[in-house]
Amino acid sequence: MTDTVRVRFAPSPTGRLHIGGARTALFNWAYARRHRGTFLLRIEDTDPERSTKEYERAILEGLRWLGLDWDEGPDVGGPYAPYHQAQRIERHRVAAQAMLARGEAYRCFCSHERLDAMRAEQEAEHQASAYDKRCRSIPQAEAERRAAAGESFVVRFKVPEGKTSLVDHVRGDVTFENKEVDDWIMVRSDGNPTYNFVVVCDDVDMKITHVFRGEEHLINTPKQVLLYKAMGAKPPEFGHLPLMLGTDRKKLSKRTGDTALQDYQEKGYPKDAVVNFLCLQGWALNGTQEIFSLDELVKHFDINDVSKAGAVFDIDKFRWLAGEYLRKEPIDVLVDHCVPFAIQAGLLRADEVPSKRAWLASLLAAEKERMHVYSNFPARIAYLFAKDDELPYDADAEANAKKHAGRVALLGDFQAWLAPKLAAGEPSAALKDGMKAWLSERKAKMPELLQPLRCALSGRAGGPDCFDMIAWLGPERALARIEHARRRLA
Ligand code: GLU
Repeated sequence: MTDTVRVRFAPSPTGRLHIGGARTALFNWAYARRHRGTFLLRIEDTDPERSTKEYERAILEGLRWLGLDWDEGPDVGGPYAPYHQAQRIERHRVAAQAMLARGEAYRCFCSHERLDAMRAEQEAEHQASAYDKRCRSIPQAEAERRAAAGESFVVRFKVPEGKTSLVDHVRGDVTFENKEVDDWIMVRSDGNPTYNFVVVCDDVDMKITHVFRGEEHLINTPKQVLLYKAMGAKPPEFGHLPLMLGTDRKKLSKRTGDTALQDYQEKGYPKDAVVNFLCLQGWALNGTQEIFSLDELVKHFDINDVSKAGAVFDIDKFRWLAGEYLRKEPIDVLVDHCVPFAIQAGLLRADEVPSKRAWLASLLAAEKERMHVYSNFPARIAYLFAKDDELPYDADAEANAKKHAGRVALLGDFQAWLAPKLAAGEPSAALKDGMKAWLSERKAKMPELLQPLRCALSGRAGGPDCFDMIAWLGPERALARIEHARRRLA
């Protein structure tokens, strides 16, 4: 069994890759890799108005960014090419014709008016809306004649009587009465086939063994299972992944968090954190370990362990996880990841980066404790780029600095103590020890000096060590900032 697994991710390129779609891709990929099967990518681009090449490119890029690869697909080819659904249309036409010829499907000539009136009546009677199957009784020869004469028709699937059962790897046993399934439309009056029809045609042709997709498709599964049987094909095994919910327990939407994978990429979420977080949306490695890698996912992923309860997309947890990953990165890698955001924010030019690398690394080594995502970097370091006489002071930083009149005076004395030491190039550690001794001689407590000093150097109430900030600014600018602060805070 294990060498025959063939799973697919089948996105429609009609928008940016949804975070839920990314999870679907990830779980299919993990399943294929775990079982040494085949993972394929099929682009379902049958809606020409909404599908674009840009979206398709972005989807592929997003998947690659996550570290996923595929064995067959539009860019890599494969034995079941083409992998663009729109290019398989001829095959869909042939399949529809075969279904008509076998009497598994029929042409329906009912007008819009008739269907609308029928729907209104059903609504008034509080019945579920369904086609009344009138055209089923048209003899095939007559239907063919009417079609040839140019009469408009749709092709409907002839739902058989009986019951259908399937085992869903996530939801368990599912049984439904066929009579609850409408004679649904396989081919529209303009000749275009519908999703439920083409997805099954392609999954049959591509020998897909397992279909794992979002729960929103559960409603389509009865139609599809019946179609497999009518086509004489064995249905694949299904697994419907739980909906991703916002913290308000409603369907994930912009209100409670970004919904596109690219949003997280653009905000500088570490890639491995995104993968890890997506895994946690409906699956857990074990009861305790929250942080794990793609390799561990492949080693342990079991579709039967996916929970059917809605997965709450907790953005605070995501940010926490992002911070955990960010802090684990080697400093050089972290510099590479964060620098583009500083450039984008206008703090740095790309050509300055090589000469400032060590400085940037030292900033990041200190600041990473206070960061979750790479894009936090510019805001953390912007104070270093302000003009020394125009550094904005946060209200709380200023209030701390001015708590007692003596604090600013102490800052002045400290400046006089510090200036010659900086000129002599004393290292930070020695300066820090010296400051402690200096303060205890004056019986002053650390915050009395450090709060005004912190305000002078950074304009903020919290942040890195003051002596680190002095080192990053350099003696001249640090002293200039202290000088300005004495005037501004007086
Ligand atoms: N193109 C469909 C979608 O993006 C695929 C659904 C399926 O996996 O069957 O939702």
